[in-house]
Amino acid sequence: MRISRLTRVSRVSRVSRAIAASATLAAVASMSLAQAPADSSNPLLKPSTLPLQYPAFDKIADTHFGPALDAGMAEQLAEVEAIANNPAAATFDNTIVALERSGRTLSRASTVLFSLLGADTNPARQKLQAEYATKLAAHSDAISLNAKLFARLQALHAQRDKLGLDTESVRLIERYQRNFVRAGAQLDEAQKTRIKAINAEMATLSTRFNQNVLAEVNDSALVVDKAEQLDGLTPDQIAGAAAAAKARKLEGKYVIALLNTTGQPYLNQLNDRALRERLYKASVARGSRGNNFDNTTIVARVATLRAERAALLGYATHADYVLQVETAKTPQAVNDLLGKLAPAAVASAKREAAELQAIIDKEQAAKKQPSFKLEAWDWSLYSEKLRAEKYGFDESQLKPYLELKNVLENGVFYAAGQLYGLKFKQRSDLPVYHPSVTVYDVYNADGSQLAIFIADMYSRPSKRGGAWMNAYVQQNKLNGTLPVVANHLNIPPPAAGQPTLLTWDEVTTLFHEFGHALHGMFSNVMFPSFAGTSVPRDFVEYPSQVNEMWAAWPSVLANYAKHHKTGEPMPKALLEKMAAAKKFNQGFATTEYLAASLLDQRWHQLKAVDVPTADQVMAFEAKALKDAGVDFSPVPPRYRTPYFSHIMGGYSAGYYAYIWSEVLDANTVAWFHANGGLKRENGDKFRATLLSRGGAEDAMVLFGKLVGHAPKIEPLLEKRGLVTAK
Ligand SMILES: [Zn+2]
Repeated sequence: MRISRLTRVSRVSRVSRAIAASATLAAVASMSLAQAPADSSNPLLKPSTLPLQYPAFDKIADTHFGPALDAGMAEQLAEVEAIANNPAAATFDNTIVALERSGRTLSRASTVLFSLLGADTNPARQKLQAEYATKLAAHSDAISLNAKLFARLQALHAQRDKLGLDTESVRLIERYQRNFVRAGAQLDEAQKTRIKAINAEMATLSTRFNQNVLAEVNDSALVVDKAEQLDGLTPDQIAGAAAAAKARKLEGKYVIALLNTTGQPYLNQLNDRALRERLYKASVARGSRGNNFDNTTIVARVATLRAERAALLGYATHADYVLQVETAKTPQAVNDLLGKLAPAAVASAKREAAELQAIIDKEQAAKKQPSFKLEAWDWSLYSEKLRAEKYGFDESQLKPYLELKNVLENGVFYAAGQLYGLKFKQRSDLPVYHPSVTVYDVYNADGSQLAIFIADMYSRPSKRGGAWMNAYVQQNKLNGTLPVVANHLNIPPPAAGQPTLLTWDEVTTLFHEFGHALHGMFSNVMFPSFAGTSVPRDFVEYPSQVNEMWAAWPSVLANYAKHHKTGEPMPKALLEKMAAAKKFNQGFATTEYLAASLLDQRWHQLKAVDVPTADQVMAFEAKALKDAGVDFSPVPPRYRTPYFSHIMGGYSAGYYAYIWSEVLDANTVAWFHANGGLKRENGDKFRATLLSRGGAEDAMVLFGKLVGHAPKIEPLLEKRGLVTAK
């Protein structure tokens, strides 16, 4: 429902993204073995023999990655050279299909490495990441900037409509040609050399940025001396904080771990205002404290390099470059949408703030203490009180009915069963990279296997923040592969022996990420480049947001929202109150999200000469928020620049995508409602028309085919309650 969600879908590794090739595949391990300096027992050098080529996590050692990446790059370069130097004239098969088949070893090794870097990193993996970031960037450039190869693509592109190909194949030619041009294939040699240098430097910087973000999250965890200061937390949570302290060798103390967002979970429970302030300030200081993990220098440098690269490639700014291939197309379109939403969002947030201030004043008066002005570290606590006052419930009343396994199997999976006829069966015979990870076989209604689904739900210090989906194996008919997809969340692990009880936000995140998983699992395309979630970034959040609608769908909710001890259903009155509270706090949620989105755009709509120096990064941020009219201090941006990982990775100039997708989402929710809601017929149409098509057709054409009209903004405004009644 809210884009405030810090979720994202992982894109394929940079290498395969840049060259739009690389699939995992069965045959042809012999080629890589011949070139591999490594020993043949390296499991990454050949396709896994486990079902659906599920990675052999128990056999893969960190020492295998380096040799496999080296062998994989060598293999792909040899493949690409053979394609580029083929004396025969370019054909679809000898050029495009051959590229699609290339780089299997590299794809296999980099997919596992980069997935584990997100889900379960360690010093060895981080060292590999730092070491290979530049090498992989150079590898990608070596392919994209290969003049002979580009000449073949140009030749095919010129005659693409006369080759007697189907539409997916023609689209694939266009995709390759476009990607090569965007990578710099048409530049002169001096410019190509500069592009390569920029990409290499940026690869190093973005690795360092993300490693700093993780280090800062861990380094900024709050150490609390006395249990009394934690007043407001539950005994389990206090026990969890004591255990976290013990794990850090701070026995007798308490540690509050941070998430990577500006807001922190316990801010809605801690009664000690001074501690809330400490927690909040520790959170927002991350990345600009002047310590070893300070990211301001990196931010300024990356913004400069991106602007320079965009100019070399003929674009006004990095945002122009990025948005050209999104459904938004231009910065103007993004600015228009964000600009339209911001005033309504901030006005709503200010109304909410006034209500919170009234509660503070009343409480303080009752305690005969002076009142204080609402600050950012007060918002969550008092909005929980307001929620309780207005709707008669708070999060703690919901949680006993939201046990993780039950929500997943009887909620998320159940909805997928009702809509698509899917069946799920847990299996424990496949190796996992962490003991808390569970694995499911996924079957179609006719009993055929659709995919393998990996559920990785718990937070740990080795896991990056947020929630995301990734594919270990992508579907494509060319190589005959079926998907292996994973969902990763950051649910705090319960104290030993206790059940995992979720917040409503976590339940929604579970449904959201599973929407990405469905997009990956339903993929039914010919070519690896178009598999699953290989769609524009501002479209990729759309299916996942649609899937959130089933979390609160009455028959789904009735099936999973049961008390973890007694099995009793969630009381109807509580359900009704929850439904009534849907638009609660949306001014806050929309404003914090828009502030981050606007920051992202400001950074990337700059020319190189206008990028601030490192010491001016935070001042630039403050001014950008002010200029955009979202500088309302009780509602800070969801991410501040130095820990805004999205914009350092694949979401640069793309964080707006969540609300852009939500426009499509709200239109589609309306379509489901108009057609009878949770029904096989509707699910099957969604699957056949859109979810199974991946990137094989134009995204907005697919949307039009499903919904029957162009997207309208009204359903979104209505959903968030951002339109004041006239
Ligand atoms: Zn997402």
